[in-house]
Amino acid sequence: MGLQFTVTERTDRVSEADRAKVLADPGFGNHFSDHMVRIEWDSEAGWHDAGVAAYGPFQLDPAAAVLHYAQEIFEGMKAYRHADGSVWTFRPEANAARFARSATRLALPVLPEEDFVQSLKELVAVDKAWVPEAGDGGEASLYLRPFMFASEAFLGVRPARKVTYAVIASPAGAYFGGDGVKAINLWISTDYARAGEGGTGGAKCGGNYASSLAGQLEGIAAGCDQAVFLDSSTHTYIEELGGMNLFLVYKDGRIVTPELTGSILEGVTRSSILELAKDLGLSPEERRIPIQEWKDAAESGELAEVFACGTAAVVTPVGELRWDGGSCDHRRDGHVDEVAGKIRSTLLDIQYGRVEDTHGWLTRL
Ligand code: PMP
Repeated sequence: MGLQFTVTERTDRVSEADRAKVLADPGFGNHFSDHMVRIEWDSEAGWHDAGVAAYGPFQLDPAAAVLHYAQEIFEGMKAYRHADGSVWTFRPEANAARFARSATRLALPVLPEEDFVQSLKELVAVDKAWVPEAGDGGEASLYLRPFMFASEAFLGVRPARKVTYAVIASPAGAYFGGDGVKAINLWISTDYARAGEGGTGGAKCGGNYASSLAGQLEGIAAGCDQAVFLDSSTHTYIEELGGMNLFLVYKDGRIVTPELTGSILEGVTRSSILELAKDLGLSPEERRIPIQEWKDAAESGELAEVFACGTAAVVTPVGELRWDGGSCDHRRDGHVDEVAGKIRSTLLDIQYGRVEDTHGWLTRL
């Protein structure tokens, strides 16, 4: 049997009027719902004290191990409101499995899948009013952020014997605001790697994001939106962006994404696209992709589209690729991101219940 959650509803909820104001223009990651989930773990009692209570600060000892050694992992997923008012999430068992893999890599305890999924249901049950209608752009949602960190007050370097798991929720509008899906330009980060062989790249841990920021800043200084990271040992093969996986689409119908080498995060969107691509008559491939292949195919005209993907932005077309001393762009006059657009709308239609969920990807919250 799974954990039993105690629910302590707050009496000072955000007023309906203030919530409506937030939901009308939530942006991303700025506002938080009324409640949060918290579950404690220690090496003697295991998982215990599962509960939902008012959203609020943690009281953390200054010696809490997470603040020193970054023993921390997280997940990112969304709750979608369907036209009939019901609320659903997308492939939560895949996020639960990735969370368990991340936990093992960071020497944190594994939260069983059943408790992970139940924690989302418990939070959405009390904060359902924070799940926006799909809205004008058709993609407003409640972003769910499960995370786990070493809360033991101890400065020795070893896996913590006290750990806290929590889930917070943040309403999210259409990622691209009013002007639709705009292509992003990418900078090839060669001075900085995000992850290395044997490292934590395949885990969703905070340190990976901290280590991607310098490359990201370098990209922004070069006039790009984001950085694309290469394998750290040979600087030859494409890995991913700081927070999204990457796909190349060829004019002959091949759709290619870097294979999972251990230093790339296995995106739930990425694996869903590999399945959807077949439904769309494309030929998906997972393999190592030399960055030179992108440059050559953009030049020769064989490359039709490039796009990035992830839970937050769904599918984002990529335009120019820049590096120290050069650039390339596969787009020609009249370019349309047809495959990216089709995959994006197919995924959104499934997530918002606008088409039948033939893959069985939705779970009701
Ligand atoms: N790569 C990285 C580094 C990420 O942070 C994310 C977002 N979780 C992704 C890829 C995309 O993963 P998903 O499709 O599961 O959101």
